[in-house]
Amino acid sequence: MRTLITGGAGFVGSHLCDRFLGEGHEVLCVDNFITGNLGNCEHMRGNPSFQFIRHDISHPIEIDGPLDNILHFASPASPVDYLRHPIPTLKVGSLGTHNTLGLAKAKKARYLLASTSEVYGDPEQHPQREDYWGHVNPIGIRGVYDEAKRFAEAMTMSYHRYHSVDTHIVRIFNTYGERMRLDDGRVVPNLMGQALRGEPLTVYGDGSQTRSFCYVADLVDGIYRLLFTEFHEPVNLGNPNEVSILEFAKEILELSGSKSRIEFKPLPQDDPKVRRPDITRARRLLGWEPKIERREGMKRTMEYFKNKVNG
Ligand code: NAD
Ligand code: UDP
Repeated sequence: MRTLITGGAGFVGSHLCDRFLGEGHEVLCVDNFITGNLGNCEHMRGNPSFQFIRHDISHPIEIDGPLDNILHFASPASPVDYLRHPIPTLKVGSLGTHNTLGLAKAKKARYLLASTSEVYGDPEQHPQREDYWGHVNPIGIRGVYDEAKRFAEAMTMSYHRYHSVDTHIVRIFNTYGERMRLDDGRVVPNLMGQALRGEPLTVYGDGSQTRSFCYVADLVDGIYRLLFTEFHEPVNLGNPNEVSILEFAKEILELSGSKSRIEFKPLPQDDPKVRRPDITRARRLLGWEPKIERREGMKRTMEYFKNKVNG
């Protein structure tokens, strides 16, 4: 099989490239490095089944030969990144999704869109199920990402309904692991980097807001399963084990043995107060659930960041 992955030089995308190569696919990785880097794919470069294409997917792309699968993962994903690149974020969610869906239609390829728990916004239902329509501020600072992804879902469903493209939508909840950028601003690299450097850990607000963290290998496994189903509506993938950010910061202090203190900073605008996936659908449809406990995943991720901080 021949599989094209946009955003393949990013955190999740590079793990997907590894998984698809491991399953015997030929992988075409498309990225423009706006938030990713080739270092994430360095180990794949000698592999004859791996091809890298530097391209901004918000512009149309032509690919020679057949394609069996297209996974659209290109998009700035951390709040700091998408606030730094608001227009490219809107473009890759809209134009990039249109371009990749057009390619899937032309090649009769399976299609999978990386959507997000952010489509639920600051949710009024907890935990979040796929039939919840969300609570998003379209003109707030996070709107560039949330609305781009909501538009991307609408576009994907339309290509399924009107052009019979075999589409799939994964709503990804906070995922972490090796190859996150230390400076991407998300809570895992921020707090781990701070703990390892002996700096204060920045907790926004009073830290009572919650998230549910999924280790990247678990996510990738769910995505691989979803791609080969006959199911076209969105599927939540994430770890339902919920924790407050303050509690999470304390876990990082304990795990790292750091003597850093916790420093409270203002809560960013529209920061969701709670987030936890209801994964009933994924359990039933894919026979999937996360296997890596937070402590184990955090240990592995901390090892990765240790090398980055010291290197
Ligand atoms: P990331 O920033 O590490 O990866 C995104 C990649 O897309 C980068 O390599 C970037 O250079 C590339 N990219 C962005 N715009 C592009 C464009 N126009 N053309 C080509 N390449 C482009 O982020 P990530 O965490 O790996 O996220 C990957 C995908 O998963 C995103 O679509 C994101 O919205 C989604 N997602 C991730 C999470 C998470 O917790 N990691 C949660 C929800 C959704
Ligand atoms: N956060 C924090 N300190 C940081 C970075 C983030 O307290 O240094 C908080 C942030 O306000 C949010 C949560 O951690 O409540 C998760 O933030 P992240 O940027 O990882 O992603 P989000 O889930 O908000 O998209």
